[in-house]
Amino acid sequence: AHLARIADVDGELNAFLHVSEDDALATARDVDARRAAGEELHPLAGVPVAVKDVVVTAGMPTTAGSRILEGWIPPYDATLVERLRAARMPILGKTNMDEFAMGSSTETSAYGPTRNPWDTDRIPGGSGGGSSAAVAAFEAPLAIGTDTGGSIRQPGAVTGTVGMKPTYGSVSRYGLIAMASSLDQAGPVTRTVEDAALLHEVIGGHDVRDSTSLDGGFASFTEAARLRDVKGLRIGVIEELEGEGFAPEVRARFTESLALLEQAGAEIVRVSCPNFRYALGAYYLIMPSEASSNLAKFDGMRFGLRVVPEDHPTAESVMKATRGQGFGAEVKRRILLGTYALSAGYYDAYYGSAQKVRTLVQRDFAAAFESVDVMASPTAPTVAFRVGEKVDDPMAMYMNDIATIPANLAGTPGISIPSGLAEDGLPAGIQFLAPAQADDRLYRVGGALE
Ligand code: GLN
Repeated sequence: AHLARIADVDGELNAFLHVSEDDALATARDVDARRAAGEELHPLAGVPVAVKDVVVTAGMPTTAGSRILEGWIPPYDATLVERLRAARMPILGKTNMDEFAMGSSTETSAYGPTRNPWDTDRIPGGSGGGSSAAVAAFEAPLAIGTDTGGSIRQPGAVTGTVGMKPTYGSVSRYGLIAMASSLDQAGPVTRTVEDAALLHEVIGGHDVRDSTSLDGGFASFTEAARLRDVKGLRIGVIEELEGEGFAPEVRARFTESLALLEQAGAEIVRVSCPNFRYALGAYYLIMPSEASSNLAKFDGMRFGLRVVPEDHPTAESVMKATRGQGFGAEVKRRILLGTYALSAGYYDAYYGSAQKVRTLVQRDFAAAFESVDVMASPTAPTVAFRVGEKVDDPMAMYMNDIATIPANLAGTPGISIPSGLAEDGLPAGIQFLAPAQADDRLYRVGGALE
């Protein structure tokens, strides 16, 4: 049914870069056979899942939305993909994304933009717009996203889906094409909070192949999602992420969602995180710095595209021509920003200062969580904007991440839940934030709001 739905609507939406029909059907048939034989299977066995194209999949193309990886077939599965396969979940295919996960609209993909199923003139968010559009359009019941600065949560907000960025280290990064290694985290994109909890439990857990992977220390996500009880929970509204810059109806849906939680017994208080206002600036130094280093491996020798200039084919000219043609404008902008921020003479002023801000943001979180259990803000400042509207204005594009970035800088979890329809009848999202390894609190509050 999902393959048929993809065939019907994906010509218009462009949520998938690759559909792995044979692979998905083989897994589904195997599950049927095992069930018929009375085998005890995982609760998600047979439930299909779509995977963002920045996650490597053995035998399936993986492009990260870039020309430079066109035609590359990874020789191995990411740990999270191994775990999906171990649960016998059919993999429907690979979803579209901003090139190397740089963007908030899926418009920097080398393979064309993904459209928002609510209004195909609008963006589905980014960088994981393919995963969120696929779930919102019922092409897939579940999807995997990655969130470096908001790429699971902001697409969730603008497509009316649930997007969960787990605690850094909760889900293995082995087999994720790294964008900014200290910020990247994979997580679930789903239609319900309970689905997100189930999927998180499949893909999460310790992995010896990721040195930042956490070993235990998490309460059950599905039990928390099923509690449907927020009595006594203290929710802090972040003063700095509430007022100016957020669209009126997005704010209205946010306030209404909080009122529902209050009626259900939660206590709503205000908290201040004064350094959050510097988080966006710090992110756009740290993230390009790490990306400029991570992307150095795309040299025209090892992966995908290789452009050989006929007149002068040296290692250097091949590298220049391949990177010149293989990378898009946003990727080049970030490599330039990152190498500049890391260069001798500027390192302390830019990268060094950004790391100090990162510490201040972490301290804001620590101070706030002394008096509240979770914090809340709108996920994104506006509903989905129009395709093309912000594509020539990087600053306007970066502002989408204002509320999501602090959690990446701190390594703490965040979830976006639909909060209702706002401007132009389009979905808006409410974001909840919790301390590191308290991901269960997000499933608890999210489950109660559904
Ligand atoms: N929009 C942010 C950026 O462009 C977030 C990216 C992400 O989370 N992958 O960097």
